[in-house]
Parts: sequence; C-alpha cells; structure tokens
Amino acid sequence: MDENCLFCKIAVKKIPAKLAFEDNDVFAFEDISPQAPTHILICPKKHFAALHDATPEDQALLGKLLSVAAKLATERNLQSGYRTVINNGGGAGQSVFHLHLHLLGGRNFHWPPG
Ligand code: AMP
Ligand code: ZN
Repeated sequence: MDENCLFCKIAVKKIPAKLAFEDNDVFAFEDISPQAPTHILICPKKHFAALHDATPEDQALLGKLLSVAAKLATERNLQSGYRTVINNGGGAGQSVFHLHLHLLGGRNFHWPPG
C-alpha cells in the first residue's frame, strides 16, 4: 500500500467507491467521472504506478485484470462493443498513478483514439 495513493485508499476503503468486483488480488469500482454508460476501473490491490513497473512475477495478476474485465463485460451485456484501456504515463493521459484498466461500454467508440 502506498499511503499517498488514491486507489490504495479505495482498496482499503479509506475512501468510498462503488465497488463492482473484489477478491484477494483485484478490486473494481465505478469511475467517478464516467466517459460511457459503463465505466469501471479494474485495479490490482498491489500498488504499481504503471504497467512497466510490473515484473514477470506479476504476469498472472496482470492477466486477472483482463479476466475480470471480461466477466464484468459479460455480466453487463457489453459483448457487441466495449473497450479496455490502460493509460501509462502522463503523455498517455494517466492521472492516477496506480495501475488501472478502464472498462468502457454502452456506447459506440471511434478509432484511432484521441
Ligand atoms: P487515468 O486518467 O487513466 O489515470 O484514469 C483515472 C481515472 O480515475 C479517471 O477516469 C477519473 O475519473 C477516475 N477517478 C479519479 N478519482 C476517482 C475516485 N475517487 N473514484 C473513482 N474514480 C476516480
Ligand atoms: Zn496505489
């Protein structure tokens, strides 16, 4: 746990959030500023600032983020179109430096992204 990290505080429930999923390794909650009808952030409980801070030992944990995204997408009937995004670094738009996978769905998306 990083004492100064917003998402670590959500993980230990020091800051409230609307939880969508939780197990021993991963937690997922509704984005406070949703960019689509479904906008969930899926995070490892272990603190990493970004994807490139994970190690080969974290491979299963990283895979689990995608598995949870697939489960939530299925539960919410998003199979016809949803997007999973990880912003890494300020240049990619990352604003909270605890690794998180955005799950966005419920509207059409364009490519390339902005
Ligand atoms: P990123 O820009 O990829 O780092 O995404 C950070 C996301 O966290 C943004 O979509 C924010 O709306 C969201 N966010 C920031 N603070 C909170 C919070 N307290 N609860 C839920 N989502 C948050
Ligand atoms: Zn953290």
